[in-house]
Amino acid sequence: MHKPYNALGVARDTNPSQPVTLIRPHAALRAARFFAEKFPGTTMYAVKANPSPDLIRTLWDGGIKVYDVASIAEVRLVRELLPDATLCFMHPVKAPEAIAEAYFEHGVRTFSLDNLEELAKVVAATKGATDLTLCVRLRVSSAHSKLSLASKFGVGVEDAAPLLMAARQASDALGICFHVGSQAMSPQAYSDALSLVRAAIVSAGVTVDVIDVGGGFPSIYPGMEPGELTRYFDVIHAAFEALPISYSAELWCEPGRALSAEYASIIVRVEQRRDDVLYINDGAYGALFDAAHVDWRFPARLLRDTPSHTKDMAFSFYGPTCDDMDFMRGPFMLPADVQAGDYLEIGMLGAYGSAMRTAFNGFTNGDTVVVTDEPMDSAYGDTEVTPSVVTPIRKVNS
Ligand SMILES: *Cc1c(COP(=O)(O)O)cnc(C)c1O
Repeated sequence: MHKPYNALGVARDTNPSQPVTLIRPHAALRAARFFAEKFPGTTMYAVKANPSPDLIRTLWDGGIKVYDVASIAEVRLVRELLPDATLCFMHPVKAPEAIAEAYFEHGVRTFSLDNLEELAKVVAATKGATDLTLCVRLRVSSAHSKLSLASKFGVGVEDAAPLLMAARQASDALGICFHVGSQAMSPQAYSDALSLVRAAIVSAGVTVDVIDVGGGFPSIYPGMEPGELTRYFDVIHAAFEALPISYSAELWCEPGRALSAEYASIIVRVEQRRDDVLYINDGAYGALFDAAHVDWRFPARLLRDTPSHTKDMAFSFYGPTCDDMDFMRGPFMLPADVQAGDYLEIGMLGAYGSAMRTAFNGFTNGDTVVVTDEPMDSAYGDTEVTPSVVTPIRKVNS
């Protein structure tokens, strides 16, 4: 049988009646290389964005050796896949059992926290360990980001001093971490946050060993075209260098989206068309959670052997479940002659796409197929990737 190798080929050759996940290891490898080579510090991968084992191994091959994990299941998963990886448990509210298992069974030494109660919990669960790196999570603004992460976690800079002093006492290395919100559209998000870090360090008068600027690095979506990532790196590096910290202090980051968005897309089938609304076979309970619940826009294109010459128009989608909420407003720009039976590719779903899928109403994922064509957009277009390291075409289970 002819091996499908690109989105159109997969649609044409397999006529899938269920959504198909397309995987692009070369795109994830390129993203990993980019961060490993160009970020002026250590890059972790935030596993929650997409916990696919194949992706995690690909990122490792691309030079990502440290993983931001946020649950005991993520700790176990990455430890089993990558025995030599460094794991950092960066969820500020953890179960004591999870801390103890991470510390005693999986070699985790880095934990984040944002209050004295969690600090006491980490100390107790690790039985007073003296080799901890404790990262105090500071609350910073999400003003430049498309998805806020400002409400749930983080100590305000005005309350940070006692916590930093207590964490200093309990730690071998002390860090300060934050998250500017996901999809930060300007590097100023990081320089603003690092000003707060400066204020916190000054008010506490402590020695800080690690500055962790978190995730938030943007990918490219319709209507959301950020500047170059290297510009973000430059702004972060300059602000980091100006902090009152020792020369040996380390700079870390924890991208989820930026390392995984280009890794996956889906092929869906149009089951019915009603004016400008397409009833497709994946949706809010599948890979399109963000499209439905936070009106995230994703690129869409028609997969037809003979391309349509009709002008694009704006469509919305209904997903396959019986739920009214299974609605993706879009707009998704597609040729005006789209009809039932057509296949569409919806791109940039490697981050917070496949990771969100449920089996609600009996609709779940179909096949996963590795393809070698380019993702629908890329923040890493010109980055060199050695072809020998690209995973060969095969079917994966994930
Ligand atoms: C979700 C999360 C990340 C990843 O964020 P992105 O916006 O996907 O880069 C990093 N760190 C923490 C603590 C998170 O909760």
